[in-house]
Amino acid sequence: MSETRTKCLIIGSGPAGYTAAIYASRANLSPTLLEGLQPGGQLTTTTEVENFPGYPDGITGPEMMEDMRRQAERFGADLRSGIITAIDLSKRPFVATTDSGDTIIADSVIISTGASARYLGLPDEDKYRGMGVSACATCDGFFYRKKRVAVVGGGDTACEEALYLSGLAEKVYLIVRKDYLRASKVMQKRVLERENITVLFNTNTLSLFGEEVLEGAKLVEFKGTEREQIFDIAIDGFFLAIGHKPNTDFLDGQLRLDEGGYIITDPFTTATSVEGVFAAGDVADPRYRQAISAAGTGCRAALDAERYLLEHES
Ligand code: NDP
Repeated sequence: MSETRTKCLIIGSGPAGYTAAIYASRANLSPTLLEGLQPGGQLTTTTEVENFPGYPDGITGPEMMEDMRRQAERFGADLRSGIITAIDLSKRPFVATTDSGDTIIADSVIISTGASARYLGLPDEDKYRGMGVSACATCDGFFYRKKRVAVVGGGDTACEEALYLSGLAEKVYLIVRKDYLRASKVMQKRVLERENITVLFNTNTLSLFGEEVLEGAKLVEFKGTEREQIFDIAIDGFFLAIGHKPNTDFLDGQLRLDEGGYIITDPFTTATSVEGVFAAGDVADPRYRQAISAAGTGCRAALDAERYLLEHES
């Protein structure tokens, strides 16, 4: 078990964390970054990334994250595998403990632990992940041009994803478990008026099928009632939009969070409710959730940490 002292501890290794590490290293903060359970974050589960500027021919998610990682390493960031299991933010310097029992003492902290898309929990979701199953229409929708897709969920995200996909795909099913949409009225109206979107109310997904790639879904309407009916739809893509869970449990209530568990930051900076602690990426962003916006806030968090350390230099 070791003890490390760092000017800047970065927790999480998606685009936000690695970008923060690149900037913090170049500012001579010698950051230590804990990569977490899924080094590279959510992007490592996507296939092609075509909307990150600078890659005119696209790049796979894992390759892009490996590039960012190497870029952070090149400037001397101390990248470590492992997760932070506990952190004391009540006094400075902050003291964090890793899953291997190591202690990291940090003058500033950048939290970039991301958010995890919720899945239904069907075994088929794993089977077809990256081959028809996705939790991000903006990332993967392009691959379903002129094809048939389904979106699961009845909130604003599901409606937004269905509308986005309806501009690309030939046909979009919106699978809603209740008899109403939870989304805002304006989004509901748009979805219901869009000709190539069919909303399947009172419907749940039982399973997915297909030889090698996804070919369809088995659905049930009015499950458990006299009107129960099981039927198949032919689809090439199945998009989950049933919410995200920000990875903030390890903070144990020490930072101000919104009702969804996302870290609340100052509107103009990445400062959190604790001085010296900054947040970047999806962990503080229920709205945009894009690699490019996460990288942008990672940059801002490193600049904020640098400024904070300058102002508090002893
Ligand atoms: P929400 O929690 O609002 O909606 C989740 C949806 O998924 C609900 O319809 C819910 O159904 C459904 N759902 C949850 N679990 C299951 C399940 N196991 N099976 C089937 N369906 C399920 O999440 P969103 O991501 O849509 O939105 C999060 C927040 O972000 C909201 O406050 C939203 O308003 C906001 N947002 C705003 C946008 C904007 O203003 N442009 C865009 C996107 C999001 P049920 O209704 O039955 O619980």
